[in-house]
Amino acid sequence: MIEKLYDRILHRNPGEREFHQAVWEVLESLGPVFARRPELLDESLVERLCEPERQIIFRVPWSDDSGRTHVNRGFRVEFNSALGPYKGGLRFHPSVNLGIIKFLGFEQTFKNALTGMPIGGGKGGSDFDPKGRSDAEIMRFCQSFMTELYRHLGEYTDIPAGDIGVGSREIGYLFGQYRRITNRWEAGVLTGKGVLWGGSQARAEATGYGLVVFTAEMLKTRGEDLDGKRVVVSGSGNVAIYAMEKARQLGATPIACSDSSGYVVEEKGIDLDLLKQVKLTERARLSEYAERSGARFVSGGRVWEVPCEVALPCATQNELDEDDAVRLVRNGVQAVGEGANMPTTPSGIKVLRDADVLFGPGKAANAGGVATSALEMQQNASRDSWSFEHTEARLTEIMQHIHGLCHTTAERYGRPGDYVAGANIAGFELVEEAMVAQGLI
Ligand code: NDP
Repeated sequence: MIEKLYDRILHRNPGEREFHQAVWEVLESLGPVFARRPELLDESLVERLCEPERQIIFRVPWSDDSGRTHVNRGFRVEFNSALGPYKGGLRFHPSVNLGIIKFLGFEQTFKNALTGMPIGGGKGGSDFDPKGRSDAEIMRFCQSFMTELYRHLGEYTDIPAGDIGVGSREIGYLFGQYRRITNRWEAGVLTGKGVLWGGSQARAEATGYGLVVFTAEMLKTRGEDLDGKRVVVSGSGNVAIYAMEKARQLGATPIACSDSSGYVVEEKGIDLDLLKQVKLTERARLSEYAERSGARFVSGGRVWEVPCEVALPCATQNELDEDDAVRLVRNGVQAVGEGANMPTTPSGIKVLRDADVLFGPGKAANAGGVATSALEMQQNASRDSWSFEHTEARLTEIMQHIHGLCHTTAERYGRPGDYVAGANIAGFELVEEAMVAQGLI
């Protein structure tokens, strides 16, 4: 039955490889749910869940500093609003296409449900490549992008945030254009804003910090903690940097991280102040960090070659494959927490699970970012602004709640320790209950 359903989804969404992968991972986990409640299949509930409520594709023309015109493609997939307005980030990266945005929006629906907050799932972005572009070019692109997108947004409708290639600079330009076009100071329409103008403390840190809290909770179930453990992280962007920062606060040593050109290793620990300066402020390459810090730079290598107890993939989808997983297991990894969305391939997950490595899937482990975005919306709605400490304490509570929910759900369905099943089933149960209650829409 599940296979037939999956075949129909393949047929309706040809060529969308990442979307197929994300859907199959969820469907595969739901077998025990359908066995107990076969009526869910009769009601086409799953088919409705796999079909976005709305998909928007638009042209984004912009001109570069020399006056040359470029045309990119913009996307916003409003996936599911059963639990609240669509919520999910915008990704600017040349690899972006509809299938990637759909996989991200699908995952986001379950992730947002797991936070326990009233937010539905959506995702958007563009195949625009921000690398090497001046601030003025980025601004013109963001203004053009928002000039079309604004009509689909609103604090009760759809609230984007950042993702790969979209940080506080881009959110600033997008918010400025939204405000200019609509003549409304509607803070709740975008999250990840600057703290001066409606942003939340701890939003920048939230995904990485939350990931490490989730990973620490997994370790705790085996009487372990992060103290003294070596941590290897992929990526060196927003999620990766703050994951390393929180890991260090909890006594671990982040010894390696990467970007798309290679990785750095530093046994004494990555110098996070320097890394922030190079990657977040100067937007330079990781080799530049290695030159200044004296760390070893491995051009084009796989960061998973570096032995560690904890591995945190924080770059992009399908970046940790079967061979990487075998290598990690051989080198004694104890826990893998996904900071990125779907960074581990299905065969990579199997290797880790078969070796009894603790594995935290992205839709649970990286939910701290969107949860803190929802806290930003709460602050905007009440015209309030909370301290860093208060916001971080809420984030920690939410991550512990998500961990507990995934853990107990997996046990309830006879899959103890299987956080993939726990996250997929718990997220599905929440969205499904709201969809059934709201009738056939
Ligand atoms: P950033 O743009 O800040 O950083 C991305 C990092 O990943 C960079 O180091 C980048 O290297 C690397 N990277 C991106 N694409 C590739 C690729 N195709 N191959 C190799 N390396 C790559 O993004 P974020 O840190 O915000 O996002 C990272 C991941 O976390 C994404 O999967 C995102 O969906 C997920 N996520 C982010 C959240 C957030 O709050 N920002 C929330 C939840 C999940 P380079 O600079 O060389 O391209």
